[in-house]
Amino acid sequence: MKTNEWFIRQRDRFKCKESTALHGIVYGAALISLVMVGLCALVLYQSRQDALERTRETSRNVALIAERDIVRNFELYDLSLQAVIEGLAQPEVMALPDHLRRDVLFDRAATAKYLEALLVLDETGDIVVDSVSEVPRKANFADSAFFKAQRAGDAGLYISDPLRFTLEHDMQSIVLSRRITRADGTFGGVAMIAISLDYFRNLFAGLSLGERGSASVIGQSGLMVMRQPYDVRIIGRDIKTASTFKRFIAEKEGDFSDTASIDNVRRLYTFKTLPHLPFIIMVAMAETDIYATWRRRALTIGSLMATFGLAFVGLSAVLGTQLRRRMRAESELQLLARTDGLTGLNNRRTFGEVLDLEWRRARRARSVFSLLFVDIDRFKAYNDTYGHQAGDKALAAVAKCIGESIRRPGDTAARYGGEEFVVVLPNTPAAGASFIAEKIRVAISDLSLAHAGSEFGRVTASIGTASWDPESAMDVSDMLKDADRALYRAKAMGRNMVAFASRCAGEVISAECTDIEQGLLVR
Ligand code: GH3
Ligand code: MG
Ligand code: MG
Repeated sequence: MKTNEWFIRQRDRFKCKESTALHGIVYGAALISLVMVGLCALVLYQSRQDALERTRETSRNVALIAERDIVRNFELYDLSLQAVIEGLAQPEVMALPDHLRRDVLFDRAATAKYLEALLVLDETGDIVVDSVSEVPRKANFADSAFFKAQRAGDAGLYISDPLRFTLEHDMQSIVLSRRITRADGTFGGVAMIAISLDYFRNLFAGLSLGERGSASVIGQSGLMVMRQPYDVRIIGRDIKTASTFKRFIAEKEGDFSDTASIDNVRRLYTFKTLPHLPFIIMVAMAETDIYATWRRRALTIGSLMATFGLAFVGLSAVLGTQLRRRMRAESELQLLARTDGLTGLNNRRTFGEVLDLEWRRARRARSVFSLLFVDIDRFKAYNDTYGHQAGDKALAAVAKCIGESIRRPGDTAARYGGEEFVVVLPNTPAAGASFIAEKIRVAISDLSLAHAGSEFGRVTASIGTASWDPESAMDVSDMLKDADRALYRAKAMGRNMVAFASRCAGEVISAECTDIEQGLLVR
């Protein structure tokens, strides 16, 4: 059955509202969740950067403290060496008995922690004065790199690579040496201090560097001096070909992240080359350790955020669906309230609204529009003969007929009450209205519903039409009256007819009827 334009418009509007509301809620919730997740990700990213920055600072501080300690101690060792050399140059000191000479030369420096031996070597490399024993221990250092360097010329304070030598026992040491130059400028031997590598080992002992972190002192020649965690096999290892070492040498100081080829662990390397000593201090922290706390926190917060975000979107979707159902129910109720239950056409209330709307539109646009009153003939008799149920069926069939006879989108049919129907035809002049009315009348007649109580032997209807044009002074109630009068006229003329009202100076002067049965126009 054809539903009217208003009906369709309303339904579309409701559908549109429904989906807008649902989409609005779901997209809104998704957007809020996205913003929340985005903010959370930003905060987490920043705290990750903070963790990295904190580690960088800590590593720098460790390197700085280590540097200060090494510089200060090596300065003291050097002062002791210089004191020995100065003492050796004084004849009075050399003239002293052996034990006094040792005391004067070595002062109390020889008892310093990590100082393994303070020795004076003659020009052949033999020990001539020994801080440890009155009778110098037997050893010759002529083949040592530090001795050769000092013999070749004044090398200043010469600091050796880590080396192993045996006096009383096996020692892993670093040797600090200075040349002894005689008054005539010739080579007079070497003063040397052997520092135990335990000094470096204790320097980093107890540092908390994470599971895979390390702190190292590396000689500028590329030999490992010490590493925490300690591993005796690493001491003296040559790393000068490693890419990290090349970077230490090239940049002097700084930090960078790199993956160690040895264990495939990515670390943050913070390094510092000591300005006057041949050492590089390097602190390496594994990224897994740096981000361990952060990762745990990120995992907790991230999963909580994801859960809440999803729950929020899900809840919003549920709410949106509920809202949509409610809106649909409301819209259906509204539509029901405007529809006639028996015929499915608009009810009288809707007709009133449509008529008002079309009336105002026609006035505004200065267009014409028409109105049809359709009344089934002898319907009381039909009910009496066939019963109310059959009467209802006939009503529905007639309504369907009327609905199907109007084709334009703006045309609207409604049940006015009882067995009376109305049709509103926008933009339709009187001639068009008569044409449609005639079409409806014929269609109802062609239904051929048997009606023994009718003079036509079947169900027929009489139709009255009224039209409005911009020149007429009529209002809506005048139109309704005109259509009603025309209908009355059609009934009076013999039923199963169409009558139309025409006016002159506001007065209805005639109603013309077509009698299709006889093909006559009756005035
Ligand atoms: P006329 O040709 O002059 O219009 O005669 P009529 O009998 O159709 O006119 P009247 O207005 O006297 O009768 C209308 C009848 O329509 C009264 C009632 O029996 C019937 N009717 C009104 N509403 C309904 C309805 O909803 N269902 C049924 N079955 N009949 C209805
Ligand atoms: Mg009636
Ligand atoms: Mg009737």
